[in-house]
Amino acid sequence: MNVIPAQVGSTIDEIDTPALIVDLDAFEHNLNKLAGFAREAGVRLRPHAKTHKCPIIGLKQIAAGAVGQCCQKVGEAEALVRGGVRDVLVSNEVIALPKLRRLAALATDANIALCFDAREQVDAASRAATEFGVTFGALVEIDVGMQRCGVAPGQPAADLARCIADAPGLRFRGLQAYHGTAQHLPNLAQRERAIADAANAVRATLDPLERDGMRCEVVCGAGTGTFALEAASGVWNELQAGSYLFMDTEYARIGGAEGGLYTEFRHSLFVLATVMSAPASDRAIVDAGLKSYSGEKGPPWVYGREDVEVVGISDEHGKLRVGPKAGRLRLGDKVMLIPGHCDPTVNLHDWYVAVRAGRVEALWPITARGASS
Ligand SMILES: *Cc1c(COP(=O)(O)O)cnc(C)c1O
Repeated sequence: MNVIPAQVGSTIDEIDTPALIVDLDAFEHNLNKLAGFAREAGVRLRPHAKTHKCPIIGLKQIAAGAVGQCCQKVGEAEALVRGGVRDVLVSNEVIALPKLRRLAALATDANIALCFDAREQVDAASRAATEFGVTFGALVEIDVGMQRCGVAPGQPAADLARCIADAPGLRFRGLQAYHGTAQHLPNLAQRERAIADAANAVRATLDPLERDGMRCEVVCGAGTGTFALEAASGVWNELQAGSYLFMDTEYARIGGAEGGLYTEFRHSLFVLATVMSAPASDRAIVDAGLKSYSGEKGPPWVYGREDVEVVGISDEHGKLRVGPKAGRLRLGDKVMLIPGHCDPTVNLHDWYVAVRAGRVEALWPITARGASS
């Protein structure tokens, strides 16, 4: 663990850098906006905790109306339950018995569900659940176009659901139907087509389920780029968006209904960095590189400063080009960087420094940070 980067009441200038900043006004705007959307659309919200990795934030989403949390890793589920979250869907397949036993241990005092796309997973999860005397909720994951995990829609999915329904320790709850590659398609029309196809894949699965007398309570899916489409389809009834809370440059770039930037949600997540070298008038070096933000979606954007951009990133340094309209950056100046991709950026930090009106209001530990197993 790193030292705590700030104290409650500190000014921004007093925060030790690099630090992960949450702008509370923007964060609360995003939190309430999706919660309100789900309420009005009449769908449940189960936000994805792989974005924030922090039970304090998960509990805020639940207080705003979410039914629980999703996560991707067993270690994330453990951190969430330890932090007080009582309803967790692992939106992923799990095959190893030691992991399934960890989940079964959690299921002794929380609702735990997970996804399946093969009979071997069903057998293993059933064994772990019966050993612990618990029941897992079970979703059949269908491939709705992403070509990652998931059984084929239609009869193969219904056959797996039947196998789950017959397995002790598992309760068939419904379908996991997430189209991950649709999320960042660069315009709305492309996303609409992808989700229309995904909706057809779900419908083609609901028919054989019904013929077999299987009740499908939940159809879960959707992310920040497409949630309104899933909600409008009448097919999904549980949304699992995650990045909407923070936003990042990858999402900003996908374009809203009219093209341009996607502005449905505000940027609330920043890496605060300090200029620690300024060897030339057009160049400044900050103390935050790849160990402070992810780089796989491109360099971060510099927030709120005209004509300054990140042009180089290495492990410990960020190189800024300081244009003629910017004015010189001085040693000790702070810059706020908007990460390219929020989830892996969060995974590099121990603390959120939550800020409002220029002051630190709270510090939240990122307890699922590094929970890769
Ligand atoms: C990442 C993910 C989400 C959330 O997507 P965002 O783009 O972060 O909103 C939802 N469901 C699953 C299965 C995911 O992997």
